[in-house]
Amino acid sequence: MQKITVGSISIDVVRKDIKNLHLGVYPPNGRVRIASPLKIDDEAVRLFAISKMEWIKKQKLKFEDQERQSERRFVSGESHYYRGNRYRLNVIYHNAAPKVDICNKTYIDLYVRVGSTREQREKVLTEWYRRQLKDQIPPLIDKWQKIIGVDVKEWGIKKMKTKWGTCTIAPHRIWLNLELAKKPEHCLEYIIVHEMVHLIERNHTKRFAVCMDKFMPQWHIFKDELNRSMLSHEIWSY
Ligand SMILES: [Zn+2]
Repeated sequence: MQKITVGSISIDVVRKDIKNLHLGVYPPNGRVRIASPLKIDDEAVRLFAISKMEWIKKQKLKFEDQERQSERRFVSGESHYYRGNRYRLNVIYHNAAPKVDICNKTYIDLYVRVGSTREQREKVLTEWYRRQLKDQIPPLIDKWQKIIGVDVKEWGIKKMKTKWGTCTIAPHRIWLNLELAKKPEHCLEYIIVHEMVHLIERNHTKRFAVCMDKFMPQWHIFKDELNRSMLSHEIWSY
């Protein structure tokens, strides 16, 4: 691996047997990496980096934002998202089992036991997000199994740092990022469709794009919407 510096930004450059230049900015602290085909020289890589500088800076800012987001304390008054809408958190201490309620389309009421810690409050809310997704996902998978003509044999939800979803082809299993609970339902649906299309086409090939266009013609819009939020920090250059 080689390092180049453009302006104040240090970039890792990796040479690989690939066709196109690939630029990524990665969590947790915004490391910048360019994968370059073997035949492209240093100067061309540098020019490519310069041409993408504005985008790189924007991605790095997002990570700083994300850092701030992760400093949440789960106390009343904080903003938290659910299905694409912003809510105010309202922490209510009581002496009964914890629960979460949406109130007046404005508040997420988080009921926790007196004396609960930040970690405990976060856990109650996280598990609630997980349950909401568990209700949302099966009808969407059902719907798209019929349309796409593939079977999803297993699915699950997990926290992922860099991906909205993944797919393991042999067992026909898809994993969805827990963060999708915070996104509009069409974004969740787009990721489900994307992962299900991988069951007919493993890679992001032309054929993959053709399938996406056929099943979900507006997928680009949903993708952009997700790209504007925190998890996706990659672009491909052709
Ligand atoms: Zn994919």
